[in-house]
Amino acid sequence: MTSKILSDVLDANAKYAENFGEKSELALPPARRFAILTCMDARLDPAKYAGLSEGDAHVIRNAGGRATDDAIRSLVISHKLLGTLEWFVIHHTNCGMELFCDEVISDLLDDSLATAALDPATLKWSNPQHGGGCAAGHFIKWHTIKSQEESVAQDVARIRAHPLVPKNIPIYGYVYDVRTGKLVHVPKATEIGKAI
Ligand code: ZN
Repeated sequence: MTSKILSDVLDANAKYAENFGEKSELALPPARRFAILTCMDARLDPAKYAGLSEGDAHVIRNAGGRATDDAIRSLVISHKLLGTLEWFVIHHTNCGMELFCDEVISDLLDDSLATAALDPATLKWSNPQHGGGCAAGHFIKWHTIKSQEESVAQDVARIRAHPLVPKNIPIYGYVYDVRTGKLVHVPKATEIGKAI
């Protein structure tokens, strides 16, 4: 049986490719010469919230939009080989990364790999089924978030201090509000990220 998700995606892609037009001529380096590091949250669409078209900018996404080693790897490539000159770190309100800590997810995984459930009243996670878990999660740093403003500032600071990141790249810190669609500035983060 074909998965409905798979067939929906392939149908949508066929329609997209039909009108691909001038996009076939796009250059590899981002035309507007900037990069955004943001969360994978399905409610965030960086192309829409930041006004991007294909070919405009790099968008690096992970759970939380955190400045992990791999996010920094992408940012360094973005500048060094593909010429971006300004970077944004954009976290968001109501992020799933605020809803657990390392111990919670590691314990859940230790018990079962199947999707856990969140009780909306208590904000506690539980496994609907048990067994077949794995202890490997205890060895992972999950980069959870306690405060969005703090996490944006922390991540900008980590990128700013990285020895492979040139000091003349400004790094701006923002929190996207999922209720309004607005980018809310985090002045403390942008101050940390200012170009020298
Ligand atoms: Zn998120």
